Amino acid sequence: MARKIVLLGATGSIGVSTLDLFEASGAQVDILALTAGRNVALLAQQALRWRPRVAVIADEDRLPELRQRLEGSGVRAAGGAQAVIEAAAMGADWVMAAIVGVAGLAPTLAAARSGAVVALANKESLVCAGPALLATAKQAGGTVIPVDSEHSAIFQVLDPANAAQVSRLILTASGGPFLNWNKAQMARATPAQAVAHPNWNMGAKISIDSATMMNKGLELIEAAYLFDTPPGKIEVLVHPQSIVHSMVEYADGSTLAQMGLPDMRSPIAYAFSWPARMAWPAPPLDLAVVGALTFHAPDDDRFPAIDLARAAISLGSGGPAALNAANEAAVAAFLDRRIGFLDIAPACEETLDVMDRSGALTAGDGDPIEAALAIDAQARAVTARVVGALKAPLEART
Ligand code: NDP
Repeated sequence: MARKIVLLGATGSIGVSTLDLFEASGAQVDILALTAGRNVALLAQQALRWRPRVAVIADEDRLPELRQRLEGSGVRAAGGAQAVIEAAAMGADWVMAAIVGVAGLAPTLAAARSGAVVALANKESLVCAGPALLATAKQAGGTVIPVDSEHSAIFQVLDPANAAQVSRLILTASGGPFLNWNKAQMARATPAQAVAHPNWNMGAKISIDSATMMNKGLELIEAAYLFDTPPGKIEVLVHPQSIVHSMVEYADGSTLAQMGLPDMRSPIAYAFSWPARMAWPAPPLDLAVVGALTFHAPDDDRFPAIDLARAAISLGSGGPAALNAANEAAVAAFLDRRIGFLDIAPACEETLDVMDRSGALTAGDGDPIEAALAIDAQARAVTARVVGALKAPLEART
């Protein structure tokens, strides 16, 4: 029987890899909905190939064009943020949550509420509202399966029967494109240089996060929530080859690692086939060709984002939501060339500090999702002020 699928963020890097995996594996899928933000041309092309019940474009201004492109195809076109949420709740067996940023929170939550298996790529929704999201999925009888390669790795080697004997989770990090750059070079880094990841082909926002290593900071928070592990038991290890995707250390001295080529179709395949494994024409890992696997501790001076994530989580659930919002706003400012690369982390730090000192991080007794979104909005406003106050000349940074 074909599994009923909803693909949120179909036109992004993860969305395209997911459809590619379905194509390559010949998986039996009945796609209920494909959604995108603004890329009408690719969404329409995907819809004509996969014939979902509905194709949804979040940017409503583009709905007429989507309708026109899908005319006569039998695929319904819909538009707007609410239509994305409705698509998430269509009653799929499996939902890929691959919208980028906090924009993914409401649709991911709707998918969790529907009781589907949620393949979670959208780490920002977990960072903002992890406990509420996981509790919602559990209550609805659904499951959240990590897609992020590091968390997929841990999920694959973490033995629930021996959870009490886990002494450390070790997240590996490629180190990004600036692993060997000094601070003076990093200060002048351009968006084009920052998105040029050495190992992974990803969307712009996560590529910048990899360059600042904020991606690893967000992943640390993600791991703390997903695996119910105190941040003090989660470590980061730089591993430039991106072959070991993460590790679990047990109290008996054994460390279990999961390995594979840096190809997101592998963790997506595991999230799709879990608890079984599926065959697809996966490029084989040849360790004789890879040769050396190297590891070293991260440089917290050039990459302060991991410490920032630890600080954020120590502030309670509002801290990660504020950090995530500040980072999204600061990354957008960097991509627009309004700030320099090395301004991103300090802008996040100052936002966290302002939010903490003003008491804005203390969530009330109300709906945790509303609370997370309120903190998100407030933190973005603070970051906008912080970014606006930066006076360093742009030409020094380009
Ligand atoms: P992309 O930027 O490539 O794609 C993002 C997707 O979200 C696109 O389909 C985009 O549509 C859609 N989108 C953007 N804004 C909105 C919005 N406001 N409403 C609805 N849809 C929207 O990102 P990635 O695929 O790289 O990443 C997706 C998520 O997965 C992120 O949270 C990222 O951190 C995570 N992730 C990604 C990995 C990777 O290898 N790429 C690895 C691990 C995690 P459009 O194309 O029309 O703009």
